[in-house]
Order: sequence, then C-alpha cells, then structure tokens
Amino acid sequence: MNADLSFETSLRQHGFRVTPQRRVILKAIWDNGEHASLADVLAAVQAVDANISPATVYRAIELFIERGLVIATRIGNQTVYEIASDHPHHHLICRVCGMDQKLDHARLRGLMDDIEQDYHFLVETEHLILLGLCAHCRPTAA
Ligand SMILES: [Zn+2]
Ligand SMILES: [Zn+2]
Repeated sequence: MNADLSFETSLRQHGFRVTPQRRVILKAIWDNGEHASLADVLAAVQAVDANISPATVYRAIELFIERGLVIATRIGNQTVYEIASDHPHHHLICRVCGMDQKLDHARLRGLMDDIEQDYHFLVETEHLILLGLCAHCRPTAA
C-alpha cells in the first residue's frame, strides 16, 4: 500500500469529485487500518465533523465500494470496511473474540499455485476470511 497516498489523488483516480465530506469519510476508513464497522467509521467521521449524517457516510461508503476504493467484507452478521489495497491479502478472524490478523498473500500463493496445477483452476479470490480460534480463545485442555 502506498504510504504517501493522498486522499485527494486517490479519490480523483477513482473518478470522484473531492468533497471535504468524502475526504473525511475515506480518511476515517484509512486511519482505522483494519476492518472498520459502520459504527467505527461513523464515530470517527462525527468526531471530525458532527454535521455529517449517517446517511451521507453510508452513501459515500457505498460509492467507494462501487468504484473499488473500499472493500466490504461480511464477517458473521456484521459488514466491515477497509481500504482496498493494491495487493491481495487475507484475514484470520477469531470467531470468539473477533481478533483480526492480516495474512500476506504470499502465505497462500503456494496453495493457489498447487490448485492451479492440480485442478487447472485459476483462483482469483483476493480477500479470503479464514474463521477460527485464536491462541487466546482456543481451549487449552485437549
Ligand atoms: Zn482485508
Ligand atoms: Zn479469540
């Protein structure tokens, strides 16, 4: 991910008119750095500008998703948002405490290459959610 990404450049590249509200909303998702729920984004946005309504935030996020700037992922019964990165990545999510560990695509590349070779199937999934139990939530007694 480009560290010196300017929100204005990114918005423009994706065909957006840069409005101050959109900049605040995108920055809220960016600053979260991980999966942000709608409530997370709303709280961060309204901390900056209390006049931005939830409906505006929701509409902006929907637009960001449509234009490929933001990824929405359904985890359990919640939808979470994150900035779409240039490179594919995946997540290990603990189904008990919600721990979210980002997984580099390189970790899965070998598996995907094997699948391509053995099944002649090219995997295009770029955002895989692996549900399970983190070290903390795993029962210690066998
Ligand atoms: Zn992700
Ligand atoms: Zn856990």
